[in-house]
Amino acid sequence: MKALVLEKYYHLAYKDVPDPDIAPDEVLVQVKACGICGSDIRGYDGSTGRRIPPLIMGHEASGVIAETGSNVTGWREGERVTFDPTVYRLDDWFTLRGMYNISDNREVLGVSPGTYRRHGAFAEYIAIPQHILYRIPENVTFEQAAMVEAVAMALHSINIAEIRSGNTCVVIGAGMIGTFIIKLLRISGASYIIAVDINEKHLVKAEKAGADFSLLVHGDDLSEKIRSLTSDRGADIAFEAVGQNQSFNNAFAVVRKGGKVVLLGNITPVVDFPLQKFVTSELRVLGSCAINGEYEEVLNYMKMGKITVEDQILAVAPLSEGAAWFEKLYRNEGEAGKVILVP
Ligand SMILES: [Zn+2]
Repeated sequence: MKALVLEKYYHLAYKDVPDPDIAPDEVLVQVKACGICGSDIRGYDGSTGRRIPPLIMGHEASGVIAETGSNVTGWREGERVTFDPTVYRLDDWFTLRGMYNISDNREVLGVSPGTYRRHGAFAEYIAIPQHILYRIPENVTFEQAAMVEAVAMALHSINIAEIRSGNTCVVIGAGMIGTFIIKLLRISGASYIIAVDINEKHLVKAEKAGADFSLLVHGDDLSEKIRSLTSDRGADIAFEAVGQNQSFNNAFAVVRKGGKVVLLGNITPVVDFPLQKFVTSELRVLGSCAINGEYEEVLNYMKMGKITVEDQILAVAPLSEGAAWFEKLYRNEGEAGKVILVP
């Protein structure tokens, strides 16, 4: 089969590789669409250490079942599917307690951090364990299905936050994930949504996505501005979708006493922590990692037209042009939008 192989950092080759073998509990999926993730770009340049070459990257994908393993039940050839990129063990302590997203010995498709190498979906075919598969509704396209992962990550953070109707929410970082958080908050009963970013273009998109108000960050008057919009209290919940020192501290600055800070961004491993505000305001800080069962709900929202993803798709291109797209995305960091490759 043809695949886009990261042969060394900054070098992707579109070439022939052997077809993947499937285990008895796996299916072979013929890939129809696979999105380039920001983490793939940081894998391309080697900065995360989680894409050690040689590797076929790609974990945001959809396709058609081409073959089923001997132990596969409930899935047949020809079905349109997508999959959660976390390959978790069914007998793990955390999995058994409903936390497969943080389970031990889990592997992520298209990732090789040194302890394992799991080839991804920038290829014509990929082997997928049956327990991470989801059916794509008839009216949802392969390209839309390749966007489910990003939406599901946003939805996981909303589930972690335990939103109540009437909550006021601030979303810090209105890139793709932040925009999906805004869209999902809109249908989750949040009453007032404020988007915060350092990029004006992102804020225009955020307002289109459903933010009631948007704020460009400059200087340190953010907390006052948010107070003026929230009955002088601060927001009930702040979502931090960036993961740097400034944005992290902004999240604490805008939340009210007794409020929640939900953290998804994690570009920086360590940040300054506002201990006194945290203690004296009785804040709750919640981390949100990947996806924990949100795929089906997102696919349903797509089927019902409750969530749209097209505004976040920058381009759909042949997999053979993948290397050029990686180079382009690497060079214009900040260019928002998903590039979807089609084998
Ligand atoms: Zn991703």
